[in-house]
Amino acid sequence: MITFKIVTPDGVTYEDNIEKVTIPTGAGQITVLENHAPLVSTLVPGEVLVHKDGQVVALAISTGILEIRPDSEVYLLADTSERAEHIDIERAEAARARAEEMMKRQDSDLNIDFARLQAMIERETARIGVAKRYRNVK
Ligand code: ATP
Repeated sequence: MITFKIVTPDGVTYEDNIEKVTIPTGAGQITVLENHAPLVSTLVPGEVLVHKDGQVVALAISTGILEIRPDSEVYLLADTSERAEHIDIERAEAARARAEEMMKRQDSDLNIDFARLQAMIERETARIGVAKRYRNVK
């Protein structure tokens, strides 16, 4: 079994003993099984799939750090994470549309950081993707 935890500024948002987890990292998507080698990597916005007892729990995460410790301890330190069924798609679509609108106005006097807007768009796109996939398979 893997001791799995997701920690965000809101606290521990997910904690369980699991069999397998798929995680979006800066070096690509990885699947972690028991006894994985220790690793530290970046998290990128996307979908986390937690496998336990033949069930899969899908979550959206944004940016952060992944740490795999010896003895099958896996920690995701993320800015945000939401379970697929808790994602408000309309809210994410509205937030993405706002960020895209600001991006278009970049060349005017609005001095908003391009990288920050890009990160917002990626975070909302991850939420929308995870929520829609969850709705389709349910
Ligand atoms: P907004 O949609 O109001 O622009 P945001 O994208 O700036 O919000 P974040 O800073 O990413 O929000 O997250 C703030 C909190 O709200 C976090 O706890 C996050 O998990 C939650 N959250 C953000 N968007 C959604 C969503 N679409 N559905 C469910 N929870 C969300």
